Amino acid sequence: MRFDFITIFPEFFGGPLDYGIVRRAHEADLIQVHVQDLREFAGDRHRTVDDRPFGGGEGMVLKPEPLFEAVESLLGRSVGDAAKQSTADPHTAVVLMSASGRLFDQEMARKYSQLQRIILICGRYEGVDERVAEHLATEEVSIGDFVLSGGELPALLVMDAVTRLLPGALGNEASSQNESFSASSVSLSSSATTIRFAREPGALKGVLDFPHYTRPAEYRGWKVPEVLIGGNHAEVAKWRRQQAMKKTRRNRPDLLARE
Ligand code: SAH
Repeated sequence: MRFDFITIFPEFFGGPLDYGIVRRAHEADLIQVHVQDLREFAGDRHRTVDDRPFGGGEGMVLKPEPLFEAVESLLGRSVGDAAKQSTADPHTAVVLMSASGRLFDQEMARKYSQLQRIILICGRYEGVDERVAEHLATEEVSIGDFVLSGGELPALLVMDAVTRLLPGALGNEASSQNESFSASSVSLSSSATTIRFAREPGALKGVLDFPHYTRPAEYRGWKVPEVLIGGNHAEVAKWRRQQAMKKTRRNRPDLLARE
């Protein structure tokens, strides 16, 4: 799967690709990453990519031309409304990172992990000329209800969440099934068995992960729950399921349907 980042800060992407699962996926060629400097598509010798907002107000706005040209150059074809509707490539998404986009979640990550290519447009300043959202991007995505200074961190976050869902990216193939937010079912594994539960009654988006413990069995007087040490796999699975529900009720009641 290929990720293209369009940014005015290409150096930003050095570190995040160099660690853990993303690094291994990159090395194994499960993902290809291209960082596109937006300024290469600036139309003047000052390499200007932003301008003042029509209608007045604070700050600067990223101009449409460099963004359209950058995406067209990456795709090797022209885009626009016609391309968006009829000849649009179903295997490619052009995603505009935006605080006013649709909220990114695990389900969206799963959907993206089926694609062949994602082009992620990173905004800066006050944002991006609206024609990019309307006529260039296939979707507008927010990573949460807060405002960041640029789209680079959000875009990297999307890449991370998608990459770990690609077949072969995680050491243990089952592990992405056992995590928080698995939408259709809640499955809990122990070393010897995997027990899959039907969707919890009332759970809209799955429940959160269960608590994990490792050695030492006692630390500063705090003991690991007895049931995890006992070796009864059915009991362990039951306890994990209860704890996952308890944690979801406490931290994320919004994931559960209202009674
Ligand atoms: N004026 C805008 C904020 C611009 S922040 C507003 O009030 O909504 C500059 C850039 O950071 C945005 O263009 C976007 O690309 C990125 N960004 C900021 N917050 C984000 C979020 N929650 N999710 C995704 N991208 C975000």
